[in-house]
Amino acid sequence: MTVRPKLNDGTNKYCPECDNTKPLSEFYKDNARWDKLTRLCKEHMNQKTRQWQIDNRDEYNATQRERYRRTHQRKPKATHCGRGHEFTEENTYIRPDGRGRKCRQCSADYEKKKGKK
Ligand SMILES: [Zn+2]
Ligand SMILES: [Zn+2]
Repeated sequence: MTVRPKLNDGTNKYCPECDNTKPLSEFYKDNARWDKLTRLCKEHMNQKTRQWQIDNRDEYNATQRERYRRTHQRKPKATHCGRGHEFTEENTYIRPDGRGRKCRQCSADYEKKKGKK
């Protein structure tokens, strides 16, 4: 029966990539593992992650893009103005710089009200 090296003696932990022990502070936390620390030391974890990113560049970029898309997703355009008029083609005034739109009906109402005064 071979004696397995003690992977984690409470102060140091064995990193198979280093083939040596390192202080526990040199390992990332990983609650999925028996000692709640990653199998490899931080240095090697980073190396593996980088390597994975290189090996899977397309997949990595795709997930990054997807994440970016999700966090920067524009709110769906409202179909009605604040007062319930539908933004139809005829009823929508788009600012000349294209950065906003107004409800023509509301503008007309506003002008009418202003005219009465
Ligand atoms: Zn290591
Ligand atoms: Zn309106």
